[in-house]
Amino acid sequence: MLKVSRQPDGRPEIFHSVQGEGVNTGKPAVFLRLSLCNLACTWCDTRYTWDWEQYDPKEQILELPVEDIAREILRYDCRYLVVTGGEPMIQHKELVPLLKHLKSYYIEIETNGTIVPRSELVGLIDQWSVSPKLENSGNPPSARESPRAYKFFSELPSSCFKYVIQQENDLMEVKRMIQEYDIAREKVALMPEGKDTEAILGRSRWLVGLCKNEGYMLSTRLQVLLWDNKRGM
Ligand code: SF4
Repeated sequence: MLKVSRQPDGRPEIFHSVQGEGVNTGKPAVFLRLSLCNLACTWCDTRYTWDWEQYDPKEQILELPVEDIAREILRYDCRYLVVTGGEPMIQHKELVPLLKHLKSYYIEIETNGTIVPRSELVGLIDQWSVSPKLENSGNPPSARESPRAYKFFSELPSSCFKYVIQQENDLMEVKRMIQEYDIAREKVALMPEGKDTEAILGRSRWLVGLCKNEGYMLSTRLQVLLWDNKRGM
């Protein structure tokens, strides 16, 4: 059984769209959004997956057997799956049987990089999109930075790192992290924080300069630019 995010119409949050962030931006993909998170970012736009002061978990979580989830994913004529959250690694054990059902898929997992996944799962994943949180997230350092997990993901050939940037000062923290964990700059993307087009485009314009200077990728947030971050799009 897996805890899957439940859409307002009662269906599980499994939908066909295009990847909006990171190295696979623009590729058609099926998304599976899992519930639960171990962090509490102030700017989180999926609070319904974990903020039980604001949301009722009985309304937001569907506990589904692996077979039902696989059937829903297989409905779409698309063999690229993005597992997102919340924080999917909270359910890394339960994910293994599901992803074994989907061996023909190219599978990407989006994670905050604080939990080391079991080795059985690692072999099933093509792309790890790791988004470690910075001070701007409002999480304490002890929660947002797990040296063991950081090191694990930095050594994984299939990982890339995506940092959410609010202001230029954040760059100092990114540099410190990638130096400390020996992350190649070609694996690093900067992504503007923002829940509307104006914020995304405004920050993207000055991020271009930083990316040019440092050799990082620029990631956008297509789901915000195209659909104002509407669920299930
Ligand atoms: S790690 Fe992701 S899902 Fe969790 S609180 Fe932060 S932005 Fe939200």
